[in-house]
Amino acid sequence: MAVRFRDRDAFEPCGGYKLLPLRFTALDADRYVVTNDVGEYALLDRASLHAFLRYRLDPRSETYRTLKARHFLYDDDNSAALDLLALKLRSRAEPISTWTGLHLFVVTLRCDLACRYCQVSRQNEDVGSHDMSPEHAERAVEMVFRSPNRHQKIEFQGGEPLLNFPRIVQIVERVEALNRREGRDIQFVIATNLSRLDDEVLAFCRQHHVHLSTSLDGPADLHDAQRPARRGSSHARTVEGIARAREALGHDRVSALMTTTPASLDRVDDIVDEYVRLGFASIFLRSLSPYGFAAKSLVRRYTSEDWLRFYRRGLDRVLHANAIGHPMREEYTAILLQKLLRPTGTGYVDLQSPAGIGIGALVFNYDGAVYASDEGRMLAEMGDETFRLGHLDQDDYEAMMTSPALLSALDESLAESAPMCADCAFLPYCGADPVFHRATQGDLVGHKAFSAFCAKQMGALRHVIDLFERDSDVRALMLGWG
Ligand code: SF4
Repeated sequence: MAVRFRDRDAFEPCGGYKLLPLRFTALDADRYVVTNDVGEYALLDRASLHAFLRYRLDPRSETYRTLKARHFLYDDDNSAALDLLALKLRSRAEPISTWTGLHLFVVTLRCDLACRYCQVSRQNEDVGSHDMSPEHAERAVEMVFRSPNRHQKIEFQGGEPLLNFPRIVQIVERVEALNRREGRDIQFVIATNLSRLDDEVLAFCRQHHVHLSTSLDGPADLHDAQRPARRGSSHARTVEGIARAREALGHDRVSALMTTTPASLDRVDDIVDEYVRLGFASIFLRSLSPYGFAAKSLVRRYTSEDWLRFYRRGLDRVLHANAIGHPMREEYTAILLQKLLRPTGTGYVDLQSPAGIGIGALVFNYDGAVYASDEGRMLAEMGDETFRLGHLDQDDYEAMMTSPALLSALDESLAESAPMCADCAFLPYCGADPVFHRATQGDLVGHKAFSAFCAKQMGALRHVIDLFERDSDVRALMLGWG
């Protein structure tokens, strides 16, 4: 429910204050979350909410002072409230102007695993025609420096990117050469299953400060069932690779990601415990995306509520790990907390309005095609080219960044103008996911009442706000995550 300026005449002001734009929704049977566009929130009981909206709050009350300090109301004492609110809104929107800060290079589609939830059309490891060419790599690197963003993350994806290690070497060295005159802050990450880790790769990563990000779905039986190797146990190889990489590069230069499949749903304690056992300080309880043929069939086998149960229980297990002396954070929760607590929100590209496609992340595919997001590239592998911005052989940077494919998707991804989102109290902490809605509902906006993205956001935000407000120990811990 939203209250905008035009609504204020619905009530007779009698408390000497005026409302600023706000939205509210029930958190549970007793409490309501009230939010505004700059991301401030307050929890009110039903009676206080009624009194507030009917201009009957006592100006001497704590609730009045809180709502005034958080820009939900203003009175004669703070006539600059609107200017201050506008300033805060501008700060919150500021990250949009920094432009693209994440560039993904799909250096090959070849892979040596056969994961059940593979989101791209992996190719046999011997098929060289699915490798990025040196010429495309060169053009893509030049395009990275067209973005004005001073902070760049360059991530190598696949397939298994280490199967085309020479292209990674070329790209890193070329970026470093160009950056000598640019002086930007650039981080390199290889998303790898670690199967091809050898001394040459480790020496290169050490010399060029390259981070490694691997996949770890949980204990051996679960991981091996979901990520089968052609020979032996992929879990054993991953664990061995993590140890080897940590020894060569340092503990914090190796991170891991998990993916939730139907088989994971009852195993979240085991999954968190495995991350604890292997000494990770973070875990990202990720739901499965509906891209790739295998992924699509698996996604249908669990609902948003299944995933939310998994997430809530997993978060409890992470909190328990902290309580018994293993410092660890859950990354999805941390992203939501950053949106809740930081004036500028977070740069996480999947939760932006307008969406982070193109202006947050850009993907250079192995064949020279350029996509507005990694998920857009996965969708293209399924035959839907909606998010293809152009090709490195034919299109220059201006043509791609002003292409109708990008501009119309950005236009439609403004959550502030989307049905349901426009009135949703969680809007400041949410975003738009046009690729997800295109994949699941056939259009870029989607009907949020039937959207798994929306259900997930609402459920997780309710849970995080509740935990944060209910338990002072959890609150103290979470403040460190936000
Ligand atoms: S997607 Fe759902 S939770 Fe997010 S702003 Fe829209 S209605 Fe709210």
